[in-house]
This record gives sequence, structure tokens and C-alpha cells, in this order.
Amino acid sequence: MNFIDLAAQQRRIREKIEARIQAVLSHGKYIMGPEVKELEERLAAYVGVKHAIGCASGTDALLLSLMAYNIGPGDAVFTTTFTFISTAEVISLLGATPIFVDIDPVTFNMDPEKLEQAIMAIETNDSSRYPLPPHDSPLSPKGIIPVDLFGLPADYDAINAITQKHGLFVIQDAAQSFGGEYKGKKTCSQGNIGCASFFPAKPLGCYGDGGMCFTNDDNLAHHINSFRLHGKGDHKYDNVHIGINGRLDTLQAAILLAKFDIFPEEVKLRQEAAQRYGVFLGNDFCSIIAPRVSENCTSAWAQYSVLARNEKHRLGLQSQLKEAGIPTAIYYPKPLHLQTAFSYLNYKEGDFPVSEDCASRIFSLPMHPYLKAEDQERIAREMGSRHV
Ligand SMILES: *Cc1c(COP(=O)(O)O)cnc(C)c1O
Repeated sequence: MNFIDLAAQQRRIREKIEARIQAVLSHGKYIMGPEVKELEERLAAYVGVKHAIGCASGTDALLLSLMAYNIGPGDAVFTTTFTFISTAEVISLLGATPIFVDIDPVTFNMDPEKLEQAIMAIETNDSSRYPLPPHDSPLSPKGIIPVDLFGLPADYDAINAITQKHGLFVIQDAAQSFGGEYKGKKTCSQGNIGCASFFPAKPLGCYGDGGMCFTNDDNLAHHINSFRLHGKGDHKYDNVHIGINGRLDTLQAAILLAKFDIFPEEVKLRQEAAQRYGVFLGNDFCSIIAPRVSENCTSAWAQYSVLARNEKHRLGLQSQLKEAGIPTAIYYPKPLHLQTAFSYLNYKEGDFPVSEDCASRIFSLPMHPYLKAEDQERIAREMGSRHV
């Protein structure tokens, strides 16, 4: 059994992918070729926003978004500690300070109440209100990067209400949620900028690295476009900003175009697979907590993550499944505030108890559009077969 079955997808559309690649080999425009523009137009329409800007990765999409807001030293950007390293890495890379916020134990997404506490702590420069990293002079709160973890959109109504009150921007890390929906609107459209990743294992993946920024704001789109092209001005050799080489490859765009044709159907297949899991795992014989989807949301189901009772229970279940040839994975075993890379922020164990608890109990089951009901039934059976 595969954790994510990219081969099953490729078998369906191999010829179309090859035709798209052939077209690129024929026209030879490997950098910023017509496929990049075609993909940007199609995905902007799909998401329902004005601008889509292809990037070299999801990480670059986040980085370029922060650059468009001119983020740098002295700036505070709030994000969750229970996410992939990229989300906070880009804040540090620009010299700004990531301010971590704990998560909601049901959705695994940023807890809006704790976000508000963290903002108040920064605004009043008072770390007795919420754990803050050390800083010599007061930090200036600039924006939030909420993450749609495992494909489930964060609580944007609450987050946007808070950010409006405090004058902060929202960069949506939708690396895992592309294809999902929040109140009838596709993800990547809930913040000022939405960032998608096309890493192969993401819901819409290419055959290498890729990402995209989505926005309705002309000025932000203009800046992101410039920064991804070495800060270009009117033409390629007119450089008006310090930028990066952050373009999406034409070949990756070509592959994504072939894959996007079946993407809406694949999103539906993921919903069906998640629903089946819910039924099979619903009778609580194996005493795990299955994920719940927030009201009026559709998850893109990048991962199907469950909670064991404790770390030992998780270890038992994972090894039982492994013996039965069923792969599992842990996203994420260590929250970011406890990562060595962020030790300079001086956060300590106990600062974000919900994230720490989830990190010790969570694990993910195989999830992809081509997952068979009988395999899912077997997974549930294996977890219930022996009590650990
Ligand atoms: C994958 C991922 C990223 C980074 O995407 P890349 O394309 O791998 O750079 C950022 N944030 C989250 C939450 C992710 O899962």
C-alpha cells in the first residue's frame, strides 16, 4: 500500500503529461514560457481571484509575499508553531521575528483567541500576556500567516476580524489546502495573498518544485512579480528591488496543466475517501480521534491525520500498521518553537501546550484520490485488531 499513490494518477493521464512536455520541448521556452501564463490564468479563475503568480516553490510563494509587504528586521509576523518549517523560516530569513501562536485542538489550525492574546502581548510589549521571543526594542506587528493544516482552512472569519482591528495583513499558507473551500470560496482567496505549493505530494503536485501566489491586489501582484524576477523594473535588465530567482519552470507548469484537468475530480475523490475513513474509524474500537471538518469548509485532505491517546498508543498503532504493510507518517513530531533552528527565539517546552500535545499523539494514514475502500477497511481493522 502507498501512503500517497502518484503512480495511479500518472497511469490515468500519462499521455497528456507527455504531450504537454513534448510541446515545451518543441517551443523551447523553458523560462516563463506560455504554459506558465496559461496555468496562472486557469488557476486564478479556479480560485476566483484576479492575479496568480507562479513561483519556484511554496516556500518562495510565502517569501515573495512577505517581500511584497517589505517585511524585515523589527517586524513581528504571527504564525502557528504546528506547521512545516517553511511557514516560519521565511519570516526569519527576512530578518523579521516569528511570533508563534498555539493551535485549536480540533482543527490543528491557529487558535484566533490565542492570536489576539499574542497581538496584545506584542502591542503592549508584555510577555506575561503571551509567550514572546526576547527583543531589545519593541517589535512592530505587521501580519499573520495562518496555515490551512492538512488541507482544512483556518478560521478566517475570526482571523480577518482580528487583523482588521489591528491593521495587519494575512498571508494564507494554503500549501496543503489548494482545492479546499471556505464558506463556498476556494482556498487561497481568504487573505490578502494566498500561497499554494505544487510539491509532488501536495493535493495538486508537479514533478519537482513549484508554487503560486494568489491575490486580488494589483499592487501586491506587481511587486510579487517583480521580486520573483530579481526585482525587475520595466525590463529584465532594469532592477529596481533586491529580488530572487523565484520563477515557476515552464516544464512544471506544463505538467500541472495536464494534472489540473482531473484535479476537481480528484478533490471529490479525496472527499469520498475521507468520508469512508470517518465511517470505518467511527466505531471507536481503536480509540483514535478522527479529524473533523469545520462548518462550511471543505478540506483538500492533503493528509488524513488522527490522534492517538498518547505517544505510546501512537507507537503501538504505527508499528501494528507497519507490520501489516500499511505506511503512516507523523506531521509534525516537533512544533517549530522547539526546533533547533528557532532556539534563538528562546521559546521553551510548555509555551504552546496544545501543539506539544498534538505533536506527541498525531499521525497520518494513507490518503490520496485512488485509495480503495477495501484498503481503508483493512487499515481500520488493523488498528482495532489488538488493543495497545
Ligand atoms: C509544503 C509546505 C510548504 C512549502 O512548500 P514547498 O513547495 O515545499 O516549498 C509551506 N507550508 C506548508 C504548510 C507546507 O505543507
